[in-house]
Amino acid sequence: MSNPKPIIGVLALQGAVELHKAHIEACGAEYLAVKTPAHFAQVDAFILPGGESTTMLKLIERFNLWDSLAKEFSKKPVWGICAGSILMASKVISPAQKAFGLLPITIERNGYGRQLESCHVQILGYEVSFIRAPIITEISDDVEILSQYDNKPVWVQLGNKIASTFHPELNKQYPSPMHKYFVDLVRENA
Ligand code: GLN
Repeated sequence: MSNPKPIIGVLALQGAVELHKAHIEACGAEYLAVKTPAHFAQVDAFILPGGESTTMLKLIERFNLWDSLAKEFSKKPVWGICAGSILMASKVISPAQKAFGLLPITIERNGYGRQLESCHVQILGYEVSFIRAPIITEISDDVEILSQYDNKPVWVQLGNKIASTFHPELNKQYPSPMHKYFVDLVRENA
C-alpha cells in the first residue's frame, strides 16, 4: 500500500538540513529534522545531508546514535548527499573513516581537489552544486548509476539506498528531480 504523505527525516546534527524542507514539501511529503532515536523511529525515510562527514561522525558517536541509526537504515530508504554519501559507503578513502556500509561503493573524500572546490553543473537539466565533493571511485556491479558527471558516477542507487555526491537542495526551483525521485521511491516502498 503506498503512503501518499510519507515523513522524510533529515538528519539534523550538522550541515545543510533546513534547505530540504521546501523540496520535500513540494513533493507532497512531510519534512522532519531528526536527531534522536525517538525521531528516527517516526520517519518513513532518511536524508543524510551534506556538510562535514567527520563532524557528523563525531556527533553520532558523542550522542550514542550509531546503533539506532544503523537499525533504522536497515529497514528504510536512505539518501545520502555529499558528506551523507560518505557516511553510506562501504569503504571511505583519503583518509579512511568509519561508515554505515549501506551501499557497496568506495568513496574518496574531497576527490576533486582544490581546483574544483565548488561548481554548478546541470544534471537532468537541473542545476546542482558540487561542494568539496567526494568521488565514487569503485562501484559494485549491482549498483545502478542514475547519473554521471565527468565520466564518474555521481548519483547511484541500490534498492532503497541512494547516494549523490552533489547537492540539489541549494536550487530554489522546487522540487528538485532528485527529491521527486526519492519521495516516489519512498511512496512505492510503503
Ligand atoms: N568534504 C566533505 C566531507 O568530506 C563533504 C562536503 C559536502 O558535504 N559538501 O565530509
